[in-house]
Amino acid sequence: MYRLRGHHLFCLLGYRGMGYSEEYTKNMTRLHQTLREYPDTFIQLIEGPDQLCEKYPNSGEYHCEENRIYDKDAAILKKLGLKIGQILTWKDIETHVREFVVPSDIQVECATCSWRSYGVCEEGIQEILDGKGLRKVE
Ligand code: SF4
Repeated sequence: MYRLRGHHLFCLLGYRGMGYSEEYTKNMTRLHQTLREYPDTFIQLIEGPDQLCEKYPNSGEYHCEENRIYDKDAAILKKLGLKIGQILTWKDIETHVREFVVPSDIQVECATCSWRSYGVCEEGIQEILDGKGLRKVE
């Protein structure tokens, strides 16, 4: 079972192999691939730094414990109709995305994120709405 914070559920949808460092992307690619191949994998929704934050490079400004990131987690979980502490499969999370999220939500929930301008996160949500699941990271 993986333990993930709220906003990383969105980040996984648009993940294309980009990230903060080689170690960070290696870890995220492994998780992404597992969820893509085994959508019945269980996820526990947690508050604060998770298994992806663990690989955030020492060199960058560590933002994972900033209040604004906690706020983003809470807003995204609320949007998805989910709560901290819940345990559910990745497939269930995709169902919540289909039910409660539209691509333009990224513009609101992720307004301050530097990755937003790439457009991949909106694209990732659209692909879930289209029933495609996570896109393979090449
Ligand atoms: S815009 Fe940033 S925080 Fe939002 S889903 Fe994309 S990478 Fe994650």
